[in-house]
Amino acid sequence: MNNAETTFITQNKNVPVIAGYDVVVCGGGPAGFMAAIAAARGGARTALIERYGFLGGMATAGLVAPISVFNYNGRRMIGGIPWEFIERLMEVGGAEEEKPLGNISFSPEKYKLIAQRMVLEAGVSLYFHSYLSGCQKVGNTLTHIFIENKNGTEAIAAKYFIDCTGDADLARLSEVPMQPAGATLQPASLIFMLGGVDTDALPMIRHSQQGVNYHDLTIRQMLEELDKTETVPLFGGPWYCGILTKGMVLLNMTRTYADMIDNRQATATECRLREDVFTFVKLLRENVPAFRNAYLATTATQTGVRETRRIQGVYTLTGKEYLDACDFPDAISRGCHPVDIHASVTHQQRCEFLKDAAFIPYRCLIAPGFPNLLVAGRAFSADEIASASVRVQASVMGLGQAAGAAAALCVPHEADVARVDIAQLRETLIGYGANLAK
Ligand SMILES: Cc1cc2nc3c(=O)[nH]c(=O)nc-3n(C[C@H](O)[C@H](O)[C@H](O)COP(=O)(O)OP(=O)(O)OC[C@H]3O[C@@H](n4cnc5c(N)ncnc54)[C@H](O)[C@@H]3O)c2cc1C
Repeated sequence: MNNAETTFITQNKNVPVIAGYDVVVCGGGPAGFMAAIAAARGGARTALIERYGFLGGMATAGLVAPISVFNYNGRRMIGGIPWEFIERLMEVGGAEEEKPLGNISFSPEKYKLIAQRMVLEAGVSLYFHSYLSGCQKVGNTLTHIFIENKNGTEAIAAKYFIDCTGDADLARLSEVPMQPAGATLQPASLIFMLGGVDTDALPMIRHSQQGVNYHDLTIRQMLEELDKTETVPLFGGPWYCGILTKGMVLLNMTRTYADMIDNRQATATECRLREDVFTFVKLLRENVPAFRNAYLATTATQTGVRETRRIQGVYTLTGKEYLDACDFPDAISRGCHPVDIHASVTHQQRCEFLKDAAFIPYRCLIAPGFPNLLVAGRAFSADEIASASVRVQASVMGLGQAAGAAAALCVPHEADVARVDIAQLRETLIGYGANLAK
């Protein structure tokens, strides 16, 4: 018998329920670890599930830097636990703020350390090396999630669940409807770290002015010139960012179209972009004096993912509302980054700058008819324009803070997430330091 001809296998197994919590957060990226801290500080018994052995998501596993952006025209717009995290990072020499925008260069290793300290100090139970693989529900009420790790398959019960996987994995497993597919997805990029760079000679990109797009035009023109005579892989930017260590620089320049939630495309993308990294290191060494002695220190743990699924929430934030900075009675966070859309098959990037800091309503974090599920991070409910701004790290931290605070407020009354007391939620967030004033 040819086993490969079998198309489906039905599995029945007993899965141990290992623990129960008030709130379970899936995904420990910028949105997720903020959500977990906020939920725990709000008094909820909280667990955080993460597939890697460290926190930070794209910031650490994807080596995405800088953290963009906390300020609009020099005014702090995203405050509270997200900014407390930056201050804690600064205390250990792990972050530097560029004023007036509030872009943060950081050390990825110190980021992992401070994020885990803050999560553990808040009393959150951490489950590392645990992949969310399924869920159990009664109607649309989630009762358990399933995780896979070296112990096997395990189930965890909770009253509320927050999906911060970036790809809306838990929402998909729960059968929440997703936004219709757009014309295309933003590209995936494998970021790499170089050592041996003459960082004194390299003009570090400084995000010093509102309304300006920053990348290295000299290197871009050099690559465009070379492309006429030899094969240069598809690139964007390039953008580079220091990690607060002399000689070390993160490079964001590889890119390709890929639907990274398809495992076969994700595998092919990792292989292709790793080849491209080696080509770019050679080109930079040969053509840019500051990189003459550079060496590849590491590639990111995974290729960076800008865009995949987004939920169809109770409300979908549109690009027009976002760019018009429309205020909402249930606004729970802000966005200050431009609408930032990268082309996936050319070098191009479309940037639309905000005329004011935008508002994000709570209804974008919940799905109609799903009483105990919240979604924070880049998978929240927005069209492709609004999400192309909110997807950056400071903004998703703000969404995570709001989702965690909301879940904690629901716990005592076992309230439907759609019925959270908005006035109390906004008051709690303002108490943390969020800026929700017009
Ligand atoms: C190339 C690139 C450049 C970028 N440039 C910038 C920039 O300059 N500035 C900026 O601020 N932002 C930038 N971004 C955007 C930003 O990094 C992300 O949008 C942001 O990190 C999203 O946060 P998140 O918490 O929603 O998701 P993520 O950061 O993706 O975190 C999701 C977390 O969930 C975990 N996870 C996922 N699925 C599962 C599962 N099934 N089980 C368990 N765990 C799971 C992941 O391991 C991860 O830790 C860039 C992104 C890319 C890809």
